[in-house]
Amino acid sequence: MNEMLADIKSMTPTELRAEMLLLGEREFHAGQIFAWLTRGARDFDEMTDLSRALREKLKTRYYLAPPEPERRRESRLDGTIKYLWRLRDGERVESVVMSYRHGNTICVSSQAGCRMGCAFCASALGGLSRNLTPSELLDQVIFSEKDCGKKISNIVLMGIGEPLDNYDNVLRFLELASHADGMNIGMRHISLSTCGLTEKVDKLGDLGLQLTLSVSLHAPDDLTRTRLMPVNKTGGVAALMASCRRYFEKTGRRISFEYALIDGVNDTIRHARELCRLLRGAPWHLNLILLNNVAERELRPSSKESVAAFTKILTDGHVNFTFRRRLGADIDAACGQLRRSRILSAPSERSGQG
Ligand code: SAH
Repeated sequence: MNEMLADIKSMTPTELRAEMLLLGEREFHAGQIFAWLTRGARDFDEMTDLSRALREKLKTRYYLAPPEPERRRESRLDGTIKYLWRLRDGERVESVVMSYRHGNTICVSSQAGCRMGCAFCASALGGLSRNLTPSELLDQVIFSEKDCGKKISNIVLMGIGEPLDNYDNVLRFLELASHADGMNIGMRHISLSTCGLTEKVDKLGDLGLQLTLSVSLHAPDDLTRTRLMPVNKTGGVAALMASCRRYFEKTGRRISFEYALIDGVNDTIRHARELCRLLRGAPWHLNLILLNNVAERELRPSSKESVAAFTKILTDGHVNFTFRRRLGADIDAACGQLRRSRILSAPSERSGQG
């Protein structure tokens, strides 16, 4: 890995134009290069509409390090595909491509590992290795699409990592992915999921993007939420809800709350009632899912009976909610089951998802 080379794939077309001028080249080459990068060129020599001299010049200044698909698993149940990518420095991350009636959605990772430490999540097990670069985020979309041959129309930042803990790179990724000359995936087709870093939610809200924000709530009260999500220690549920309200006021975008039902932990009648109080009358949407088993975690999904009692209270309380469909259950592709290590993911191939 040559540290002297720059990451050309993280540059916007405007920056590429400036680079061309710096190199003493004509500006229009920037557009050609950006198009090749969007098409997933693996080498500068593929850029056949550039002169050989320019290609050689680019090689001395920039790297193109496409992610290597180290493993690819396809669900026999619903066609969901999970990729394990090996990055330039050997780090690994996963992405998942899901097919819905309205199009194909990719779930991308934003960090190699995660430092948020949520008690139920597989991604947090090894801690954080590093942030992904904008190009590493974008390449998950480009190379998954290239491999599976399905046009990707939607992106969710719900893979490994906390996107708002990698704020600048994630924002640049959004700019690149939504660029009209690039993948051209509009902000309304992109969702970002956060465990609730309130300052960053505020900062994001100030930009007024038409992005969908999902907030991982998982508990309506501080005692339960802090037990599950250490991030709750700063400010608690009240500060989180205040940030969410500001976000809605600034962007006009309705926030989705994620709530994974965990047996005996956040699924009692008391929790349901508190959740009603918290969400009632506001422009939120609640996504309930059953906790997905993670072998190393003690927590288990709620029973059918608890789910029925819990959802009845929400319905009676006029809370706007849906129960999310699970995809890729046989390949451990569901929420919270993505992990960056290949060694750890090997045994799950046998067991499937519980
Ligand atoms: N860091 C971001 C995005 C990554 S996780 C966040 O916290 O939102 C994507 C979603 O999966 C989050 O809602 C997360 O709370 C949820 N999740 C994590 N582990 C899970 C598990 N074992 N079962 C169900 N959902 C889980």
